[in-house]
Amino acid sequence: MATPYAYLKKQIMPLSEAKIGVMTHAFNYGTGVFEGIRGNWNESHEQIYVFRLKEHFDRLRKSCKIMQIDFPYDNEQLYSLVTQLVEMSGYQEDVYVRPLAYKSSEVLGVRLHDLEDDLLIFVAPFGPYLDLEKGARCQTSSWRRVADTGIPARAKITGIYANSALAKTEAQLNGFDEAIMLDERGHISEGSGENIFVVMDGKLITPPPSSDILIGITRETVMTLARNEFGIEVVERDVDRSEVYTADECFMTGTAAHVTPVVELDRRSIGDGKMGPITGAIVRMYFDIIKGNNPKYSHWCTPCYSRVKA
Ligand code: PMP
Repeated sequence: MATPYAYLKKQIMPLSEAKIGVMTHAFNYGTGVFEGIRGNWNESHEQIYVFRLKEHFDRLRKSCKIMQIDFPYDNEQLYSLVTQLVEMSGYQEDVYVRPLAYKSSEVLGVRLHDLEDDLLIFVAPFGPYLDLEKGARCQTSSWRRVADTGIPARAKITGIYANSALAKTEAQLNGFDEAIMLDERGHISEGSGENIFVVMDGKLITPPPSSDILIGITRETVMTLARNEFGIEVVERDVDRSEVYTADECFMTGTAAHVTPVVELDRRSIGDGKMGPITGAIVRMYFDIIKGNNPKYSHWCTPCYSRVKA
């Protein structure tokens, strides 16, 4: 039987025992930064591979710097904590690993300085997030993506997810699967938890960091595969909403969403309203890689179970 484990206050414990006080600063003021990492179950290897640990912890470090959160852990320590927690949890299915560095002091007062910090990591089972087969029907959100001048979107800050939650719920209550937010200048920014790509004239085009995106690890993975495996040119530039309507293909990328085709935006079907050929080729290669089946990219996949089938 699988039981989820967590690391909190420098100790490993069952997730059911990992508790924080109601006055915890991060809970009251959104002063935490986090990562979402997928552990992908490979049935024939009887193994869970966690994807791109280094890149996730590199980004977490940057988020900590922006939010002035002390993060005194080296990569080896972090990798070993993650693999240990996944192994102890014992799932034989896809999992999510959530590291969260946060202001842990139980005091009142909005600020970042003169507060204690802690690191939480937990494991939870996690299946598909969006319907990959059907693709996502999206709506341009009436909520703008928060700008770097407000809360920096390049940092994965817990409080910033109020922006994403407003957009996601608006889209879903309006009958769509996902929201696409514009930046303050009116260009395409990103989904509530995904980066956006369009395919136009055989090129991949994606909004730049200056469109207030989280600089996604799946985004970087797709850019690398497009360039190195498919010889497709990738361009980072401002993207207009109307360009998405007329694109040949569109897809979203994210740890939770994987690579999911966007088949509709604002009731206009994109391309022929199905997963396009370039998206399809990227999706197939991406899944092979994250499941640890492509030796060329095995350096992106960290195995968690130490007793592996011979
Ligand atoms: N944008 C936002 C707002 C997100 O929450 C996520 C998910 N972490 C992404 C983009 C995609 O990033 P990644 O590919 O690193 O998961």
